[in-house]
Amino acid sequence: DHEKLSKRTERNIHVSGECPGPIVSFYESKLPETLLRVIKEIGYDKPTPIQAQAIPAILYGCNVLGIAQTGSGKTAAYSLPMIRHVWAQPRPKRRQGPIALVTAPTRELAQQIASEIRKLGASKFNLRVLLTVGGDPKYEQIKSLREGVDILVGTPGRIIDLIKSKGCSLQQVTFLVLDEADRMLDLGFEPQVRSILGQIRPDRQVCLFSATFRNRVQQLVRETIAEAVKITIGEAGS
Ligand code: ADP
Ligand code: MG
Repeated sequence: DHEKLSKRTERNIHVSGECPGPIVSFYESKLPETLLRVIKEIGYDKPTPIQAQAIPAILYGCNVLGIAQTGSGKTAAYSLPMIRHVWAQPRPKRRQGPIALVTAPTRELAQQIASEIRKLGASKFNLRVLLTVGGDPKYEQIKSLREGVDILVGTPGRIIDLIKSKGCSLQQVTFLVLDEADRMLDLGFEPQVRSILGQIRPDRQVCLFSATFRNRVQQLVRETIAEAVKITIGEAGS
């Protein structure tokens, strides 16, 4: 426990709640071999502070609130455990809807996230990643969803839109990520985010990532995510 605390202090990691200590290298994590190989290939030598603490916490099964500044590697912090989570699920469920859902505030961010997830080895794991944002032809996306999607990435408005047109069900989602939660709320997506949270099974794992942790996000968390470990890097969110 003393070691856990000193590892946290060393990297300016603040944690409230119970979870395993930070990893020093990716190899210490319980990520599958194939994923470790991909990490090496793309040249990530060492986990960033948010990755060091969020990866073991998410793999442990915690709901995680990750507060760290822009550019600190939050995408991989949730995507690596998410890929492992999806990969470990029984396959036949595929056609009934995505297993993981990532929401982001803008089209550009959703695009970047989808491409990072693909880069991180979704292809090696044979996982199907679908990006859905406003303006893209809905019919084709509904068709892809029917053929089977494992990870759905999109803006909250578009996801609700797909559900309303019966193109997508969230009943199989067991891993939900709210990325850039502060910006999603700033942009007026709170009703859509709440609706998505309300449609997902209560035993889901939720990860919320944000550069700040202002009142509105705090309130959303209190009302919708029962127990969570909060990880803050440096002075972020203050
Ligand atoms: P954030 O979401 O916190 O703003 P990103 O996830 O977009 O940050 O990551 C910022 C950049 O850092 C990206 O170009 C990403 O590829 C890179 N990156 C992420 N993790 C690592 C790592 N462990 N080592 C080196 N580069 C990394
Ligand atoms: Mg980000």
